[in-house]
Amino acid sequence: MDLYDYNTVKKILSRHGFTFSKALGQNFLINPDVCPAMAASLNADSQTGVLEVGPGIGVLTKELCTVAGKVAAVELDKRLLPVLSETLGDFDNLEIISGDVMKLNLKELINEKFAHCNRVAVCANLPYYITSPVIMTLLESRLPIDEIVVMVQKEAGERLCAPVGSRDAGAVTVAVNYYADSEILFEVGRESFMPSPKVDSVVIRLKLRREAKYQVENEKKLFTVVKCAFSQRRKTAANSISNTMGIPKDKVNAVFSDLGIEPNIRAERLTMEDLINISQAL
Ligand code: SAM
Repeated sequence: MDLYDYNTVKKILSRHGFTFSKALGQNFLINPDVCPAMAASLNADSQTGVLEVGPGIGVLTKELCTVAGKVAAVELDKRLLPVLSETLGDFDNLEIISGDVMKLNLKELINEKFAHCNRVAVCANLPYYITSPVIMTLLESRLPIDEIVVMVQKEAGERLCAPVGSRDAGAVTVAVNYYADSEILFEVGRESFMPSPKVDSVVIRLKLRREAKYQVENEKKLFTVVKCAFSQRRKTAANSISNTMGIPKDKVNAVFSDLGIEPNIRAERLTMEDLINISQAL
């Protein structure tokens, strides 16, 4: 069964009475080069467990099952379950989990499904409406995962992988940089999907660090400061922090001045060290 063939996919879906849901970010991959390249980038072996978010019709799942020891794929849309039994019925190293990835206890799921694996990766063509929340959950929950290879909208990918202190940086960039080493692996044009979305995509890789790169006394406070600094992008970082954290402007200015940080700097130009120092001094 060729899941990259437009007419085959159309036939399977119409046999199951399936219509695409825009709200669930359903754009299925039909470019035959993309899924094998994503699966290969994991350098997986029989000891690798892969968690997939949103298998859809199973096109990426199939490739993951051929390279990894065990695959667990979480799909929210129940209408796809009978489709997946038809397209992926042959794999005995696959488990489809019906549910919402944002509501599942991922730590429990990973520990249970990948108990015999020595490496765990997350690989997915992420539904665009939950890109940041899924990535933030995967990073912040300190899950036992080694790397994340996901396809996201191009603009989101550029923000996630931007260097901290650069124009494209946002609060999410700081979080990614705090927990992982990131890179854009390759671009995927909009014509690679069925139906075709309005924007292009990129596949990114986040390698989670085992050892912390930064020494921070209070992580929660750091991320509050980061969120506040980036929340009013047209304002200076000091104004934004003062307005959103309710700290008098004089006090924030004094902290910036003590740390030798330019008073009118915008959040995207602050380095990781600046942000850590500000959060510790405030
Ligand atoms: N992996 C398939 C592919 O590449 O062709 C489908 C990718 S499609 C962009 C996103 C998939 O995520 C859809 O199957 C959609 O139903 C599913 N999905 C959407 N929201 C979800 C959620 N909260 N939890 C799990 N799956 C979700």
